[in-house]
Amino acid sequence: MPTILTHTAVPISLWIAFGKKRIPFQLLLLGIAFCVLPDADVIAFKLGIPYEHDLGHRGLSHSILFAFSLSILAYVLTRKFQVKARVLIPFLFFSILSHGLLDAMTSGGLGVGFLIPYSSERFFFDYRPIRVSPIGIKNFLTARGLVVLKSEFFFVWIPLFAASFAILLIRLLWGKKK
Ligand SMILES: [Zn+2]
Repeated sequence: MPTILTHTAVPISLWIAFGKKRIPFQLLLLGIAFCVLPDADVIAFKLGIPYEHDLGHRGLSHSILFAFSLSILAYVLTRKFQVKARVLIPFLFFSILSHGLLDAMTSGGLGVGFLIPYSSERFFFDYRPIRVSPIGIKNFLTARGLVVLKSEFFFVWIPLFAASFAILLIRLLWGKKK
């Protein structure tokens, strides 16, 4: 996985790009929580479920079905936020799914089970510039941890922030013209 911190770059970028009027702050916080949630599946290791199992790490919790179901459930449970379904559902869906998409761009581990439960196949992208993060804080505070952060900075944070600020700028200029 990329580090937990880096998964949050996706909802934060969407928030910057589309603004707090469309994506209220509470929804951003929910998106941040949801985008790291799939890795709660590391508990599978403790339970003795193998990595390659559908319920193992990078399995069901990283699938398209999981992202979709959780977004719908969140919409039903948070209607008091009064955020439109056409904003809330895609925002949360993409925040959750982006976790697996980033994992599929890492240099190590097994691929991501996007299609579980329909297919147990694990996927990686051909282009995998993100260095896989060492598990555990002790292993992380080493030179390897620094290499990971550097790859995430260059291949996740910079491109996402550049894109979101570009969209923000276009929105502001567009708004002024009208
Ligand atoms: Zn993951």
